[in-house]
Amino acid sequence: MKKNLHRFYVPQENIRDNTVILPAEHGNHIKNVLRMKPGDGCIVFDGTGFEYEIQLEKIYPEPEGRIISRVIAGTPGRIKLTLAQGLAKGDKMDLIIQKCSEIGVDTFIPCRSERTIVKVDLAGAAKKQERWQKIARSAAEQSHSTTVPVVAPVADLNELFKQVTPGQLAIIPWENEKTTGLKNILRGTAARDIIVFIGPEGGFSDKEITAAKYAGVIPVSLGSRILRTETAGIVVSSIVRYELD
Ligand code: SAH
Repeated sequence: MKKNLHRFYVPQENIRDNTVILPAEHGNHIKNVLRMKPGDGCIVFDGTGFEYEIQLEKIYPEPEGRIISRVIAGTPGRIKLTLAQGLAKGDKMDLIIQKCSEIGVDTFIPCRSERTIVKVDLAGAAKKQERWQKIARSAAEQSHSTTVPVVAPVADLNELFKQVTPGQLAIIPWENEKTTGLKNILRGTAARDIIVFIGPEGGFSDKEITAAKYAGVIPVSLGSRILRTETAGIVVSSIVRYELD
């Protein structure tokens, strides 16, 4: 498959038989920014690991194309990586989701914990989830990923601890952990399903770390420097992908 073609995400239901309809939000971009014409090729992916090369037949308002080839994309054996990220202030979550989608986080779970500063009500949380999902989708398009990361609804940290399964490697970077390093844990695991818990700006409380340990979540150190919450998520995701894929 040609790598230099433009790539777009389309929902699965827009792919029917040999035809793909691209959502109208791509129409303006394709027509006015990329200046594509009928007959031009592009790649679409549906977030499930399928990728299609199509030839555009219509450009605006909803671009439409004919499928030329279909491939199952992605890397077999790739680990599943979930980032349970403590809700961070301002637009830090946007940055974390964008960068970690590029790096290869599969699932984001924004989480509320004892020291969460951000106030999110139910309606606000749903709106934010939608916004973060969009960010994840365009970051995936941008970085030629064939899967779209999923942004889960905001969850409570203690509830998430209870959902950790025995087959998962669950780690919780904690600045007071002095003996266990991330490297040793990653080099000693056979797990293919990893969940990482990152604290908000104020970090985790001792009580939360006790609950984490009880649930089988391993506290790890990231070294002697204290990283900001947004840096920690990006750094750990990169290290996990580098070590295990
Ligand atoms: N409360 C702390 C810092 C929190 S940093 C303080 O102000 O001193 C936010 C999160 O990043 C932490 O909860 C932890 O998950 C992670 N983190 C940052 N630096 C770390 C380090 N050196 N080791 C382990 N985890 C770290």
